[in-house]
This record gives sequence, structure tokens and C-alpha cells, in this order.
Amino acid sequence: MKELNIEKLHIAVGDQEIVRGLTLRVPRGEVHALMGPNGSGKSTLAKVLAGHPDYHVTAGKILMDGEDLLELDPDERARRGLFLAFQYPSEIPGVTIANFLRAALQSRLPEGEELEATDYYAKLYEKMELLGMDRSFTSRAVNEGFSGGEKKRTEILQMAVLEPQYAVLDETDSGLDIDALKTVAHGVNSLRGPDLGILLITHYQRLLNYIIPDYVHVMVAGRIVRSGRKELALELEERGYDWARDGATEPAYR
Ligand code: ADP
Ligand code: MG
Repeated sequence: MKELNIEKLHIAVGDQEIVRGLTLRVPRGEVHALMGPNGSGKSTLAKVLAGHPDYHVTAGKILMDGEDLLELDPDERARRGLFLAFQYPSEIPGVTIANFLRAALQSRLPEGEELEATDYYAKLYEKMELLGMDRSFTSRAVNEGFSGGEKKRTEILQMAVLEPQYAVLDETDSGLDIDALKTVAHGVNSLRGPDLGILLITHYQRLLNYIIPDYVHVMVAGRIVRSGRKELALELEERGYDWARDGATEPAYR
């Protein structure tokens, strides 16, 4: 089965359990929004998917196309086609976006294989065109002095160039004004397709006005308390997270 399958997952930091029995399936070709109040464990889940060493999976499993993700190092996960856009992307002074993305692509090739410069730039510019980005952008250092919107745009460009099978976007809308939000949404929407599964983590409903998800899941206190179609996001906006939590009995999905 081509899906990212998270099953009864428990995650602890130190002796504190943050994710508590989370089950979620993201098939390729679908966009699943994961919503929840601050502190519910959304970013913790994203970090565990990336393989962050400070977060420990104490129970449950994560399978990507049937393969045990937790057995893989972070770079192997990336090579298998998992992409993460972080809530707070790092700055890499002195490294241009063009060189950074080239190194990222190169590192995914089998040993001894060289990425041709002409092929690379053709691909880079094709993706930038798709996303409506100016070429001059790529000669800037990664995230250095970038606005919130520019950082997110860089993440989206990275995703476009790496062509992942699964993408986890953590709060890609945070700190964005409405124009930047639309740009990011346009980017995600143009990359959407049958080969890509997207887990879109967001605190606010407004992003989902521009990226219409196939499914919406509500996470409260480390587990999914409700799942539904896109209308759930609207209902949530109206009634709040307490409503979502109060209605829940079992951790549910789909
Ligand atoms: P969200 O992204 O949903 O806002 P987080 O996953 O960032 O939530 O955080 C969930 C909870 O886990 C919070 O109470 C947070 O303080 C705690 N937490 C997250 N990371 C750490 C850490 N490295 N050390 C201690 N507590 C953490
Ligand atoms: Mg977060």
C-alpha cells in the first residue's frame, strides 16, 4: 500500500509523554490536514517523522509504503522520498539556495553518479517557473535575512526540486501575511498530484481556504480526536477545539 501509515504512536521527550496513541494514514495522492491547538504535539510528530534524536518513540509504528520508517536514519528517510518543511527553518549563511538544493539533490544519487549542472539548472528553473519565483532568488544565502514568507517559499521550492513521495509541512502558514500565504498555497497546489501524499500541519483554518484538504484530522493532547472531510475545518473554526475534544470517545481516524 502506497501510504504513510502511523499506528498507535506514542512519543516521549525525557519522561514526558507528548504523543499518546496517534493513528493516521496518508495515502499518496491525498492531502491530509492535521489541526490542533498549540502544544497538542503536532511539531513533535513532525520531528519524529524526520528522525529527530531528542524524541523517543515508546510504542507504535510508522510505515512508509510498508517499510519501517523508524529503522531508517534521517538521510535514508529523505532518500526514500520523505520531505519535511519545518515550522522554523534554519539559516545557512554563505550557502546559496542554488548550491544548497544542488547538494541536496546530489546526495540522493547513488554513489559515483554526478548531477550534471545543465540538468540541474534546467530542473531548478522549471520548478521556479511553476511556483512563479524570480530566478535571482536562488543566488541568496539560504534563509539569511529572509522574511517569514520568503523562508516558506524556499521550503516549497526545496520540496518542488526534491520531488518527494510524502511531504510533511509544519505550520507552513505561521507568520505569513495573506499574500505570502497565497503564494505558499499556490506552490503546494501546483505540486499536488497522484504521486504525492501531503500532511499539512496547521493551527489556523485560514490556510485551508487556499489548500483544500481531502481529509482533516484534529489533534488534541497527543491524539486524533476527530477526523472528517474539509468541512470539519470550518466546523472547528466555528465551535473551537473544546467541542472537538468533548465529542471524542475513541482515538479515531478517517
Ligand atoms: P504543537 O506543534 O502542536 O504546538 P509541540 O509538538 O511543539 O506542539 O509541543 C507539544 C508539547 O511538547 C508542548 O507541551 C511542548 O512544551 C512539549 N515539548 C516539545 N518539544 C519538547 C522538548 N524538546 N523538550 C520538552 N518538551 C517539549
Ligand atoms: Mg508546532
